[in-house]
Amino acid sequence: MAKIIAWLIVIFVVLLALRLVNARNAAARRRAQAPDAGSTAAQTVRCQRCGVFLPRSDAVTVSGGFACADARCDQR
Ligand SMILES: [Zn+2]
Repeated sequence: MAKIIAWLIVIFVVLLALRLVNARNAAARRRAQAPDAGSTAAQTVRCQRCGVFLPRSDAVTVSGGFACADARCDQR
């Protein structure tokens, strides 16, 4: 009976070790694939005139920040 319990403990420990290794690999994979949140946030700016958030590439620089390049900006 003691032998069976010892084998069960050994199997449990091996399965636990495999699970820990698997979880660590999955976390590393997720970190490698996740887009950089900081750079994504930096690419969006807020218009100083109407308050709309827009991509940095669509914005123009004005005094104090960014604004829409859109002609309808002041009508919003
Ligand atoms: Zn605007």
